[in-house]
Amino acid sequence: MPSEFELIARYFARPAKRAVLGVGDDAALLRAAAGAELAVSTDMLVSGTHFGSDAEPRALGHKALAVNLSDMAAMGARPRWALLSIALPRADARWLRGFSAGFLGLARAHQVDLIGGDTTRGPLNVCVTIIGDVPRGRALRRDRARSGDDVWVSGELGNAAIGLAHRQGNVRLKPAEARRCTRVLDRPTPRIALGTALRTIAHAAIDISDGLAADLGHICERSALAAEVWMQQLPRSRVLARLGAAAEPALIAGGDDYELCFTAAVARRADIAALSARLGLRLTRVGRMRRGRGVRLLGPDGPLDARDKRGYDHFG
Ligand code: ADP
Ligand code: MG
Repeated sequence: MPSEFELIARYFARPAKRAVLGVGDDAALLRAAAGAELAVSTDMLVSGTHFGSDAEPRALGHKALAVNLSDMAAMGARPRWALLSIALPRADARWLRGFSAGFLGLARAHQVDLIGGDTTRGPLNVCVTIIGDVPRGRALRRDRARSGDDVWVSGELGNAAIGLAHRQGNVRLKPAEARRCTRVLDRPTPRIALGTALRTIAHAAIDISDGLAADLGHICERSALAAEVWMQQLPRSRVLARLGAAAEPALIAGGDDYELCFTAAVARRADIAALSARLGLRLTRVGRMRRGRGVRLLGPDGPLDARDKRGYDHFG
């Protein structure tokens, strides 16, 4: 059984490329770039709540960092440094190899240094803190939407929720569909390049972790505005399109896709189309910010009634 220090050295300590001092001392030392603000966020994944005890370790390592990178994307920040605090029931070499490969692989891909953390024995629990930077005054905040803004979303919505429903036996997918949806669930792609590009385009942004209605609701609340969302415009994968009305709750209330929702002036539509082409990423206009409060979902026959909305709130 390796000691805590051997375990850290073997699986987590890597030379820091972008920090003054990384893992191994009482604290890491960071230097912020001139003219930058630091964006800091933390997210905890708890066994039994956020993942099953049988979760594949490599996917879990990826996801633990990906959900934090997604918060940086939603702020328009470039992620720089991460801290990893982890409680483990036992030092399982196979699990640690997989987990650290998933985590460090994604960190490397985004040029993020793992600069510290804490390792302790206990029920499996993973907490990541992410630090990024953004030019002064340029961060994408929830409270900056304006009345008349378009509402946009990246990628496709609902795949992760359908992947989860499939895994729980609540929906039947073909093998290729299941692979596609569970991949989004297990290995979400944080939209970093989109987030940084939106700094000079969007007014407000959020990442979709709890479903579009809930997360756009946070923009409404913080910006003291209402939003209307056109159900038919919501970007669906072929799987969701095939499932039809049965997939609507996943579209509007499915969490875990980690796409971005943002608002921008009508005058920026051409810039957003050009950005979509440059990134090779679908960007879809799905609604509009209005005076008032809350999110209004508009179906083909008008507003969804309260009963439908309740169903969506309780989905998942
Ligand atoms: P301390 O006793 O000062 O809290 P630790 O023994 O907990 O120090 O950690 C030793 C070093 O290893 C520190 O630099 C800490 O940040 C780092 N560290 C601990 N656990 C992890 C981990 N899971 N991933 C990355 N770095 C870690
Ligand atoms: Mg410690």
